[in-house]
Amino acid sequence: MSNRLLLVTSLGGVMSLQGCIFCRIVNREIPASVVYEDDHILAFKDANPVAPVHILFIPKKHIATLFELQEGDEQILGRLQKAAVQVARDLGLEGRGFRLVANCQEGGGQVVFHVHYHLLAGRKLNWPPG
Ligand code: 5GP
Ligand code: ZN
Repeated sequence: MSNRLLLVTSLGGVMSLQGCIFCRIVNREIPASVVYEDDHILAFKDANPVAPVHILFIPKKHIATLFELQEGDEQILGRLQKAAVQVARDLGLEGRGFRLVANCQEGGGQVVFHVHYHLLAGRKLNWPPG
């Protein structure tokens, strides 16, 4: 995250004064290294990677946390998982493996309050995560 002014929201998340960071990436208001896009999903490289492969998959629709999922959103999440597998395959990860994880709310480690899944790969991933 650059030197934009940031707010800590009541949910404990970080949001720029101009709105949700990930919505702004969807709207191309701030740059990101996009690796996949369709009508419902955007995937881009994490700005602070914690593994050689670290890609974020987000619904283009703003959903703050997994607790805010509504009827019909399961289709978006199904598409998201399929997109993640497609990207993983394209990156040659089949046989090497990957992790797809979502942090939910502050207690789950969520910092950006727009639902997203981390695709992590390229190093040994330990379990349980910290
Ligand atoms: P969380 O902890 O909410 O699950 O993860 C949020 C992730 O978003 C972090 O890994 C962080 O590095 C990433 N992130 C935050 N702001 C930006 C941004 O502006 N651009 C990109 N590409 N990633 C971001
Ligand atoms: Zn958003």
